Amino acid sequence: MTKSTRSDTKSDAAFPRRGHDHHRCVADALSQAEALCAQRGARLTEIRKQVLALVWESHAPIGAYQILEKLAESGKRPAPIAVYRALDFLMEQGFVHRLASRNAFLGCGHPDTNHQAQFLICDSCGSVAELADSRIVDAIADRAGRSGFAVAGHVVEIQGTCPDCRKAAHA
Ligand SMILES: [Zn+2]
Ligand SMILES: [Zn+2]
Ligand SMILES: [Zn+2]
Repeated sequence: MTKSTRSDTKSDAAFPRRGHDHHRCVADALSQAEALCAQRGARLTEIRKQVLALVWESHAPIGAYQILEKLAESGKRPAPIAVYRALDFLMEQGFVHRLASRNAFLGCGHPDTNHQAQFLICDSCGSVAELADSRIVDAIADRAGRSGFAVAGHVVEIQGTCPDCRKAAHA
């Protein structure tokens, strides 16, 4: 795993291959979250961990209500506020991103780096890949700055077709 402090184009190969070992993605995400929490003195409580695991169930974003339903299926139904608080914590820690256009959540593959993300969203399978391209961030800041505008944050969500779905369409 590359651990760059600056976001760069290394994160370009962003879409996971279909049929990859996704258990590995989940295990990596959970162990990375545990390590970062220990380092930061934050507490990865049981519900936070459960919510993170559910967000990582796939590379497609998941809504808070779906998370609640899945937790209910697995036994006890938590109060919605508990799920929202867990998501807030996970976002604060950078473990999870929120996709504004879907009002849904996605696990971040490099929570150890400080970055602003842009998202490629596949219309066919729902998979999302994350870019953290500093050139995009810089370009936005530059153009906004020329308008006398101070950027506090941005949402860049791009719709299209992922490599696997494109291949399937041509097969
Ligand atoms: Zn995966
Ligand atoms: Zn990220
Ligand atoms: Zn796709």
